[in-house]
Parts: sequence; C-alpha cells; structure tokens
Amino acid sequence: MPTELLGQSAAELRALLTAWGEPGYRGAQIYHALHAERRFDVATMTNLPAALRARMAAEARVTLPRILRRFESRDGSIRYLLALESDADGRPASVEAVFMPEENRQTICLSTQAGCAVDCHFCLTAQLGLIRNLTAGEILGQVFVALEENRAGPKPQTNVVLMGQGEPLLNYEPVMTALGILLDPNGVALSPKRVTLSTSGIVPGIERLGTEKVRPKLAVSLNASTDEQRDAIMPINRKYPLGTLLDACRRYPLRPWERLTFEYVLLGGFNDTPDDARRVVRLLSNVRAKVNLIPWNPCELPYRPPAPESVEEFRRILTEKGLPAFIRFSRGQDIMAACGQLALIETQS
Ligand code: SAH
Ligand code: SF4
Repeated sequence: MPTELLGQSAAELRALLTAWGEPGYRGAQIYHALHAERRFDVATMTNLPAALRARMAAEARVTLPRILRRFESRDGSIRYLLALESDADGRPASVEAVFMPEENRQTICLSTQAGCAVDCHFCLTAQLGLIRNLTAGEILGQVFVALEENRAGPKPQTNVVLMGQGEPLLNYEPVMTALGILLDPNGVALSPKRVTLSTSGIVPGIERLGTEKVRPKLAVSLNASTDEQRDAIMPINRKYPLGTLLDACRRYPLRPWERLTFEYVLLGGFNDTPDDARRVVRLLSNVRAKVNLIPWNPCELPYRPPAPESVEEFRRILTEKGLPAFIRFSRGQDIMAACGQLALIETQS
C-alpha cells in the first residue's frame, strides 16, 4: 500500500523521509508544497530531486475526498457530497462539507465524523448514527477540495468551522492533527481566530482542548436553559449535565482576545421563551461568553422553527443583560446544507 501523505504532520513527514534515507528537510519541503502551496501532484514538486519524485510517485499518494455531487444554494453556498476511501478497517464513507462565500470572506464547514453518535433529537445527522471517524487527512482534505473548487474567485479571508457531521471532540487526535496543520504558519496558515470547533459538550474533550498550545476557538452547543429540557433533546446531558459542563467552561483557559461561544438552537415552543432567555443569562454569568442563536432549520423531525418575534425577544433579553447575542440564520437551507441538515440527502440541484 502506498503511504498517504495528506494528514501527516511536519514531524511525521520528516520522519518518513529520514526512514527513506533522505535528509529530513525533504519532508519539510513536501509538507510546505502540500499545505502552503496546495500542490497535490508530486510531479509538480520540482524542488525535489527527480529520483525522489519517482519514488514518491510509486510509494506515496495524496488522496483528496472525491466530489460525488455539488448542491448549489440560491444564497451562493455549495454543499459537497464527498466520497471517502476505505479506512484501515475497510470502511468507505461519504460526508458533506459546505462552502459559504461572502463579500469579504469565505467559510468552509467541515465534517469530523461520518454520521454522529451523540443523538441530539433535533439534528438530522443523528439519524445516521456513527458510521466512522474521519482521518486527519480526510478532515484536512475537505478544506482543500473547497479551496481548489473555488480557486478562481477572489481570495478573501478563509474561516473554517468544525460544524458539519460529527462530534469533533469524540474524534480527538485526528481532529487535532488536522487543526495543527490548518493553524501552522508553515502549513495552511489559518489564524486561530478564524477557526472554530463546535462541541455538543464533551467535558473531558473540552478540558483536554484547554491544554493544547495550538487550538481553535471553542463553541459549545448549549441549546437548553435547564437540565430537564436539555435531557429531553440531548441525551449527552445525562453524562455531562449543565453544572458539570458550565464548570468546565468557567475553567477553560480563554486567550486574551477570546470569548467562549455558546450556540443555542431555538426550537419553537420548546426552549424559546423569555424565561429561557433569563435562565441562559444566569447560566452564563461568570463566563466570558457570547451566544449565537440559531433558529431551528426544518427537516423531517418533530420540531418547529421559532416565531421571528420570539427570536428577537430572546436576543433582546440577552443583550440587555450584557450578554452579547447574535442571530445566525443558517445558509443553504434549500439544499439541505444548513446546521443539522447534513444527512447525505439528495436534493434537486
Ligand atoms: N456536533 C457538534 C458540531 C456539529 S452541529 C455540535 O453539536 O456542536 C453544529 C451546530 O448545529 C450545533 O450547535 C447544533 O446544535 C446545531 N444544529 C443541529 N441541528 C440543527 C437544526 N436542525 N437547526 C439548527 N441548528 C442545528
Ligand atoms: Fe452530533 Fe452535533 Fe448533530 Fe448533536 S448536533 S447529533 S453532536 S452533529
């Protein structure tokens, strides 16, 4: 089997090249060519000796996810249905990534697992169950697919959000390896201020993330104002209830420029009352926080979107109490690309 180069850290590529009897800096050159220059064809790495290129062509490979379908939204976002090759256990998979262009920036939403085991009742991805974890190369490859596809356009600031299929903190090492490469100034060189990992609230993962030297911003899916409510829609709350979760959030070592983001999916008639808003304010006191309110995106699940007035009222209560809050209308609803709609669905396009 040829060695997969995508998803290997700079240190791993150095070690690989040393094992091949080459100087270690050849590994660094390959790392730079792949991530900083986005050259995925070894033949174009002309700063390497021809003999090494020939050996790499025979013994190594660079595998990007294969685009099965593109779904283009009226709002300009594109959902990619991607085929992944078999992993070490022989399991192929498909996942989704979403590209969202804006005037001055572009955002790429990545999957970290195929499906998800967390089972939030309002989320369509949950219906898939966990199919398998993605490798670091498969996570990183989604960024490259989106960037390559949209290479012709202008080059605005790129944001990356780990908010596609899967719970990133339940696939910790591959996610951190991919993030290490995305955030490495010698790699893809994204700023940590422009990369966000979203978690359903896996407390040991949050604690571990806090110890990392290189880490993205953190967003926590709160989604409820009481344990009873959260138990009813997020079974993970029985394992890590609000008290435990918010303790971990209070202890989380924020950098000077950073706020902890809390996502709150508004489910009409369920968690969207003024009392809920006031409880959220109390829950998040003592955390340097901001809240993204996400009106529930409709799908074949027994919930309903909130009334626009309750969304506005909810936001008003939070901001009046000094808690910054923003309403996030998800993009790509017409192509099932919005938050919680990623379930490999074949819409018309
Ligand atoms: N698994 C991680 C990241 C992926 S989900 C997490 O749960 O945080 C990204 C966000 O989409 C989460 O905040 C989740 O609560 C939200 N979400 C899920 N289903 C949704 C839906 N149908 N409408 C709106 N947001 C949804
Ligand atoms: Fe998984 Fe996030 Fe969906 Fe919950 S909301 S099922 S954690 S992807």
